[in-house]
Amino acid sequence: PGYYRNTVATDAYARQLLDAIATKCIELQGRPIRIMNFCGSHEHTITQFGLRGLLPDNINLVSGPGCPVCVTPISEIYLAMDVCQKYDVILTVYGDMLTIPTPRGSLEQWRAEGANIRLVSDINQALQLARQVKQQVVHFAVGFETTAPSTGAAIMEATDMTNFSIISSHRLTLPAMEYVLSTSSIDAVICPGNVAMVTGSEPFEKIFEKYRLPLIITGFEPIDVIEAVLKVVCQLRENASSLENQYSRVVRNTGNPTAKQILAQVFQAENAPWRGLPTLPESRLVLKNIYEKFNAESKFGLQKSQVVPETEETCCCAEVLRGEKQPKDCPYFDKECTPEKPKGPCMTTTEGACKIRYASYPR
Ligand code: SF4
Repeated sequence: PGYYRNTVATDAYARQLLDAIATKCIELQGRPIRIMNFCGSHEHTITQFGLRGLLPDNINLVSGPGCPVCVTPISEIYLAMDVCQKYDVILTVYGDMLTIPTPRGSLEQWRAEGANIRLVSDINQALQLARQVKQQVVHFAVGFETTAPSTGAAIMEATDMTNFSIISSHRLTLPAMEYVLSTSSIDAVICPGNVAMVTGSEPFEKIFEKYRLPLIITGFEPIDVIEAVLKVVCQLRENASSLENQYSRVVRNTGNPTAKQILAQVFQAENAPWRGLPTLPESRLVLKNIYEKFNAESKFGLQKSQVVPETEETCCCAEVLRGEKQPKDCPYFDKECTPEKPKGPCMTTTEGACKIRYASYPR
C-alpha cells in the first residue's frame, strides 16, 4: 500500500501511461473496448481515483462479480437466519453481511429483533468468543480465496472445540470468471491480484488457454490499474492476447504455498449457486469430511430453502455483477436504492459496485 501514491514521479509516470493509452486507442481507431475489473477492490480504486474519467471514451471499465458479500446467495443467508431462529447459538458475522437485504429482512433487522448476532472483523474473534462462552458459536464465513485460508487455519486450530462451527459461503473466483467470459462480450479482464497472490498465476493460465483474451493480474494502486489498461490496449493493438502479471512485486506463479496447503487440507469444492449467477461447478468451498463436526449445516440439520430468484423488477444486481449493466443504468440507483435503504447487495457493502459508485456520484 502506498507503493506509488502521491509522488511527483508517479504523477509524471501516470501521465506517460495515459498518453500511451490514448495513442494506442487512436491506432485502434477508437474501437470500443470493454474491460472487466473483476474485483470490488479494483472498482474501489477505479472510482475513488476517477480513473474512468482519465481514460479515452472508447474504454469501458465494467465491474464484475468479485464482491463476496454480493454473490452470497440468499439461501445461504437463510441458513444463518435458521440457525439463529431454531437454536440457542451466537452467530458471528462480518459487518458487510449484516445489511444484505433478503425477503426475510437483513441480519441487522434480525439482530435488532433479538437474534444473538455479533460482529467480528476476523474469524479468530469468533474462535476467541467460543472459548469464552458455553453456548454454541456459529461463524458465517464468506469470501474468496483471499479469506478462505484464514477460515481453514481457524478450523485446524479449533480441533478440540465442540461449541464452534461455520456456515461456509466461501467462493472460488475462477469458476465465476469463466462463467462471465463464456456469457458476456468482454474484451479483457483486470484479474484480482489478491486472489492470484494465494493461487498463483497458474490457474489463470487455464482460463487464458480457453478464452484467449488479454488477462492482466493487477495490483490495487491507481497506477497498477492504469498499467493494466495499457497492457490491454497494447495487446489489442498487436492483435495479440496473453496472460500478464502486472502485480509481479507480490504475485508468484505458484502462489502462497502455505495458504494453498490449508485450503487443500480443510476444504473441498462443490457446485453451488451464486447470487446473480447460476449454479457454477466446483465454486463453493465446503469443509472436508474430516472436519464435519465444524460444519454447522450438518451439526444443526440446516436445510437450504428454495429461494425465488430476483428479477429486474426487484433488483438489477445480477446484471451489475455480470457486467451487463453499470450501476447508473439501474432504474433504482440513487432513487429507491441508496446505502441507507438498499434494494440489493451491491448497494450495501464496501466492495459492492453500486455503493462504491454511489459515494462518488455527482448529486
Ligand atoms: Fe441492485 Fe440497487 Fe444496485 Fe440497482 S442500484 S443494481 S437495485 S443494488
